[in-house]
Amino acid sequence: MSVLILALWGVGYALPAAQLPGAFTVTPLAAVAAALTAALSMVAYVWGSAKVMYGLSLGSYLLLCATSLTIIITTGNLSSIFLALWLVVVVFAGLFGYAGVAPLTAVTVGYAVYLFTYLHGGREQGVVFFTAFVLPLGISYGIWRKKSFHENEKDQAYSALAHELSQVSSQSDIVITAIADGVMAVDDKGLIQLINPAALNILGWDRQDAVGLDYHLVLKLLDHQDRPPEGDADIILRVLRSNQTAGSDELSATTSSGKKLMVSLLVSPIGKLGSGVIVVFRDITAAKAEEREQAEFISTASHEMRTPVAAIEGYLGLALNPSTATIDEKARAYLSRAHESAQHLGRLFQDLLDVSKAEDGRLSSNPAVVEMTALVRDVVNGLQPSAQAKGLVMLYGPDLGTHASDRLAPVLYCDLDADHLRETLANLIENAIKYTPQGDITVDVTGDSEHVVIRVKDSGLGIPSEDIPHLFQKFYRVDNTDTREIGGTGLGLYLCRRLTEAMGGRIWVESEYGHGSTFSLEFPRLSQQAANERLEEVEVETVGAPAA
Ligand code: ADP
Repeated sequence: MSVLILALWGVGYALPAAQLPGAFTVTPLAAVAAALTAALSMVAYVWGSAKVMYGLSLGSYLLLCATSLTIIITTGNLSSIFLALWLVVVVFAGLFGYAGVAPLTAVTVGYAVYLFTYLHGGREQGVVFFTAFVLPLGISYGIWRKKSFHENEKDQAYSALAHELSQVSSQSDIVITAIADGVMAVDDKGLIQLINPAALNILGWDRQDAVGLDYHLVLKLLDHQDRPPEGDADIILRVLRSNQTAGSDELSATTSSGKKLMVSLLVSPIGKLGSGVIVVFRDITAAKAEEREQAEFISTASHEMRTPVAAIEGYLGLALNPSTATIDEKARAYLSRAHESAQHLGRLFQDLLDVSKAEDGRLSSNPAVVEMTALVRDVVNGLQPSAQAKGLVMLYGPDLGTHASDRLAPVLYCDLDADHLRETLANLIENAIKYTPQGDITVDVTGDSEHVVIRVKDSGLGIPSEDIPHLFQKFYRVDNTDTREIGGTGLGLYLCRRLTEAMGGRIWVESEYGHGSTFSLEFPRLSQQAANERLEEVEVETVGAPAA
């Protein structure tokens, strides 16, 4: 606007006075004010930093108002064509708040006094004055008030939110600082973003040293062979890649002073893939040592007790055998009970021994090529008498003729420890017999190109759905009116799981309470060709071995 005013002044200056109508005359004073305004605006635009911008803008705005008013006064006051300029300019007063509105109000009042007392303006002038001066200023004031009210409201909302956020953050700070477990936030690049005092304490690190470092340098994990876990075994890396929570109680961590601690680790993703993970860990060295002591005690105790129990069982067997002893019928009945109990005790000690072996990694595994249909048939036949004694029908799938293809090619090879498989399968079938009051049991073996699946299906008691997730835990027994009378330790299925895992397989159960259960075992299948090659190798080895 000031440039426009300057241009008008330039035109008036260049042309002879007669050629520019008086209504457009810009006085030199107005031209100077316009030049100053333009200069100030330019400075504000080009150089104005945030700090001085407001002052510069207000200065140039007030100067523009002064220029406009000067021109209005010199070009006929209320009949000036430049009233339009004033109308446009005055509306922006509200932008500067009181600093804009107050001086313009003062100018308006002063100008009114000048117009109506000095120039004796009449009613008509009053209407024009109101429309050109009072009304736009009023509108500008109104707009500014409304805006500042909303801004106030917004400010309040912002400060409430900021307060709430700071409260939440200080609450989580308290939790993270007070928690006894080590907590670490690791970003997608594997760098530590947050580490709590407990973590620093456990690992013997200083906060300023640990933040920003790669997690491998701070949480130095080792597997049971004292090697840093790599690839998928690196649990933190696995969660960073898969975004699926994972945990482990089997790893140890080395502190900054080189001490080795057993740790329980839980790694959870923060949000979407790539957002990082939260690692929570605790020192379980003492708990593990206690567990080991307990396991050692159980192992030694059961080992020591198994020998006399085996002797008792043997002598009772001799006493019951008509060819080695003569006893009357009453004594036979008592001794049979004693014999059964001794056998039960023997099995219990065997289970305890196996469990303690599985716990401390002494479970030896001798994998070999095993033909599954034959092995399973063997176990089923061995347990047929127990089923019959209870009046149950036990069927073996491949012998039923339902799998025509299997009957034509009944060879399903796996590479696993046959003794482990026999023990697992016997446990499942014995359970099926034990928990089926009447009805039938079907054992089946099927295979696809990748897997061999063995199923033990019974029509017995079934398992309540709430017990299913805990079934393979140590000492877990379903406790209800149906099972209370049936003795057991809760170790069988736990052992089945450990043995199956040691064989590289999987065990699971499907069951409906009151309608029977199906326990399944799945193992990787060995192709016929691979099996033949392995069998040939073994043959060569045995043939080529030097005679003992
Ligand atoms: P145990 O039989 O010595 O109690 P297990 O570990 O073998 O211990 O089994 C755990 C529990 O699972 C049992 O107490 C029983 O309630 C339930 N269970 C196992 N097999 C079956 C089955 N075939 N049918 C119904 N319940 C079963």
